[in-house]
Amino acid sequence: MRNSSEKCPICKKNIVPDYTPFCSKRCANIDLSRWFSGDYRLSSEPRDEDEMEELENSLKERLDPDHNVG
Ligand SMILES: [Zn+2]
Repeated sequence: MRNSSEKCPICKKNIVPDYTPFCSKRCANIDLSRWFSGDYRLSSEPRDEDEMEELENSLKERLDPDHNVG
């Protein structure tokens, strides 16, 4: 088993094996979006929840998975 002390680098929650090294697809997408936006190396500080929501929303528009929010 994995070391249970590992945490999601995005939100510091416990990692879910399906989404390693993140806790969820959401955080995996947020990490991706950082690379897309070129923001990754500019800001290594933790995001707050509001900013994560903004990232998540922008990703939904960009990736448009079968995840209707309504
Ligand atoms: Zn997370």
